[in-house]
Amino acid sequence: MKTLDQLLEDARIAHGHLCAGQVLGVRMAMLGLEKLGIDDPTGQDRKRIVTFVEIDRCVTDAVMVVTGCRLGKRALKFRDWGKVAATFVDVATGRAIRIAAKESSKALARAMHPEISAKNEQQMLAYREMRNEDLFDCQWVKVDLPAEEMPGYKGERIVCSRCGEGINFRREMRPGNEILCRACAGESYYTPA
Ligand SMILES: [Zn+2]
Ligand SMILES: [Zn+2]
Repeated sequence: MKTLDQLLEDARIAHGHLCAGQVLGVRMAMLGLEKLGIDDPTGQDRKRIVTFVEIDRCVTDAVMVVTGCRLGKRALKFRDWGKVAATFVDVATGRAIRIAAKESSKALARAMHPEISAKNEQQMLAYREMRNEDLFDCQWVKVDLPAEEMPGYKGERIVCSRCGEGINFRREMRPGNEILCRACAGESYYTPA
């Protein structure tokens, strides 16, 4: 496993800047991998890990860098819950751990470094120094990962009977006798302009 400094440098390059979220995300992912006993997430162990992230902010970019889990590899799962948390799943053993940033960590950062007035600078330094138990809540969990959620899943591609677009990974809906994509079934996030 790379060091915190090495991973922060990788995260800075991938994310475009160094920020409190990068420090938090790198440490969160390092802790998750350590708990699972995964040492080489981007090399030898790269097919062992699936990560669920719960927010689309800075912290998630850092989690991606450390775990090597990416959306395009189906190893990163996004649940839009607005929470600074992630669940690391070892698909080889079925063990999973959810790690959430403690709400109290911001106040603790203020208490640790009252001499730094800029919030981001203050948190960046404090989040490097803070003990894991002050930064995070950890919980062993069970994650249901059906075959179609696994990164290497090869399944049949189905065509929507209304729009004719192809659908992978069993994301089709079957109301009545129809086979519909989620947009045609009424879940669309867009309307024709
Ligand atoms: Zn950032
Ligand atoms: Zn459709």
